[in-house]
Amino acid sequence: MRIEQLGEGTPEIAVVAAVHGDEPCGVRAIERVLAESPAVERPVKFVVANEVALQQGVRYVEEDLNRAFPGDPDADTYERRLAADLAREVRDCTTLSLHSTQSYAEPFALVDTVDAVARSVCPYLPVSVLVETEAESDGRLIEYPHVVEVECGLQGSEEAVDNAVELIHSFLEATGALLDDEPVAGYDRDEVAVYRLGRPVPKNGADEYEVFAENFERVAAGEAFAAAEGNELVAEEPFYPVLMSPYGYENVFGYRGERVGVLDS
Ligand SMILES: [Zn+2]
Repeated sequence: MRIEQLGEGTPEIAVVAAVHGDEPCGVRAIERVLAESPAVERPVKFVVANEVALQQGVRYVEEDLNRAFPGDPDADTYERRLAADLAREVRDCTTLSLHSTQSYAEPFALVDTVDAVARSVCPYLPVSVLVETEAESDGRLIEYPHVVEVECGLQGSEEAVDNAVELIHSFLEATGALLDDEPVAGYDRDEVAVYRLGRPVPKNGADEYEVFAENFERVAAGEAFAAAEGNELVAEEPFYPVLMSPYGYENVFGYRGERVGVLDS
């Protein structure tokens, strides 16, 4: 784990990258922001979490770090020990954790529940979608208070890096970290649509997968939304796909979501 800091004192604001080693956008964005070395009013901690996985270009080395919290310093796996270290680093911080996906090109935010921190930070981020993950938060960094996760775009793309830089800037503005910078909300609150993450859609050990549905666009009952080796999966009830892609995850396509409303409702 690599830690850098802008400003003097004990940070109450953190930016975390490389929870997953095959999502390099966050690290590259942090390096760009550190190179700019902006003047800060409040100190900010930058954490590159899974350096070993990052170096190997893999999601994780022994187990998924984002399923290993709270972690344990004496655990058998590298990621479970790392989870304990990372949890300690961000414990007293309002934290932005940067990810990227294979499922959606536009940036969106995820929180455990829409609480005061989510309401004060998310309207200032360049996102139009916020996902509440409460039902599926177990073992993830996001289950800690004051953590906002963002998906910056498609894994490995330059756009994801640009989006990540913009997300860091707007997060630092929203938290009052930047000197002489009044936060400017990128979106009216009623433009941030809120979805709740529901049950995962499991895979069945096939070799070939397809997804027909678009993320955050309603799938009707009776609609074929994906296929495994040519066999269609048909929705029994309507839902909104979230984080759904053919090969983004090993054991699930993604998640069934429900649309809850907009951020201010
Ligand atoms: Zn990730």
